Amino acid sequence: MKPILLALFLLLITSIQPSRLQAANETCRFFTEGSGQAEGATVGYSVCDDNQAGFLSAFNRWGLQKIGYPISRRYERDGFVTQAFQKAIMQWRVDSGTVVLVNIFDDMSRLGLDQQLLETHQTPRTLPAGWDGTGLSFEQIVQKRQGLLASRPALRAAYMAAGDPLIFFGLPTSTVTDMGNHYAIRLQRAVLQEWKEDVPWARRGQVTIANGGTIARERRVIPEMALIPEGGSSAAANPPLDSISGNPAPPVQSNSQPPASFDATVRDIDAFWQAHLAQNSHSYRAPKVITYGSEGVQTPCGFVDGGTAAYCAGAKTIYYDASFLTSLQQQSGALTPRIVLAHEWGHHIQNELQLIQPSSLEREIQADCLAGVFASAGGQHAMSAEEQNEAASLFALAGDEEALPQDNPFAHGSSAQRQAAFTAGVQKGLPSCIAGN
Ligand SMILES: [Zn+2]
Repeated sequence: MKPILLALFLLLITSIQPSRLQAANETCRFFTEGSGQAEGATVGYSVCDDNQAGFLSAFNRWGLQKIGYPISRRYERDGFVTQAFQKAIMQWRVDSGTVVLVNIFDDMSRLGLDQQLLETHQTPRTLPAGWDGTGLSFEQIVQKRQGLLASRPALRAAYMAAGDPLIFFGLPTSTVTDMGNHYAIRLQRAVLQEWKEDVPWARRGQVTIANGGTIARERRVIPEMALIPEGGSSAAANPPLDSISGNPAPPVQSNSQPPASFDATVRDIDAFWQAHLAQNSHSYRAPKVITYGSEGVQTPCGFVDGGTAAYCAGAKTIYYDASFLTSLQQQSGALTPRIVLAHEWGHHIQNELQLIQPSSLEREIQADCLAGVFASAGGQHAMSAEEQNEAASLFALAGDEEALPQDNPFAHGSSAQRQAAFTAGVQKGLPSCIAGN
């Protein structure tokens, strides 16, 4: 059961809402292509030169072929104004007044995503630490690393064609790897692919740049708030979040009808929080709850895979794969879907109460605590003491197998942390979740 549960409690990523200062000399272009919406969509993302950053100039300089369409709004990352495009992620450096590209493939490696990148996107693994040896000058390291391209002249030519490849691509970080229908090499900021056969997007022998920004979005390293499309013109760059929660991307309703028992659970949790927050003089608005099937679902926060549940803060919506919860229920009993939904609801409560946590790990642990608050409730929502114990052990089973960095969006906490958080919520209630003890 552990591997399934591991995938179970999905993350919630929040970020600083990108602010857009209006400058007299602001120029923008608005793109609908990268929004993941149907053709003819009027939502998308703008790329601007203004007093915060000069992304439009950089976009024009590098061009669509190398950068791709924008796939996010601006967001803050490590204190810098940042914007994701299909092929790369731009960051504005105030001190030099220039755009640099984020070492997104290095970042994903640090987040422990290499195995997923290999399996899902055919991204070669990074070279082992210490591969460069010791005592080399930077120039020698550059030479040694760029030498990795020598075995495939077409890859080398594509790399060098960037003009200043160190700035655009960064250094190679893998060997050239045979991926079946193509050869691939991983770079700090991109992956180059040389096709061995004709594919719909390239001819045999042609080299393309993998969509590194899109891969980062799918691996959930771009804050979900930044993925919410803008309303249709730069004047409507920050529409009220609610206005896009219902449209323009109605999630595909799955053909798998959710069993009535989940509807009852949803009503149960909702009624509990409504009453509990009213008691504590907090306002509460119910989240939207949308079911989907194993094919996954497109949300305003990005694509959510089948086999999980998720909360999109910008849209105040909980999504769950009904077929997945059904199979969990069959495997491990009716309590499991309840605590999955209670955990996602925890993220909604965080949003409603504006409980800001310093890392994704702490957000996840707080959501477990809030699930415990629900589990402790009396009346018709009650879990028996026996069920509370069973739920605590389910949280323990869903602990991370190994410690992950606090900012890894997949980090949910160790077995002990998760169990303790849930139990604290059960025993000490809402104040303990907020105070973190
Ligand atoms: Zn979560």
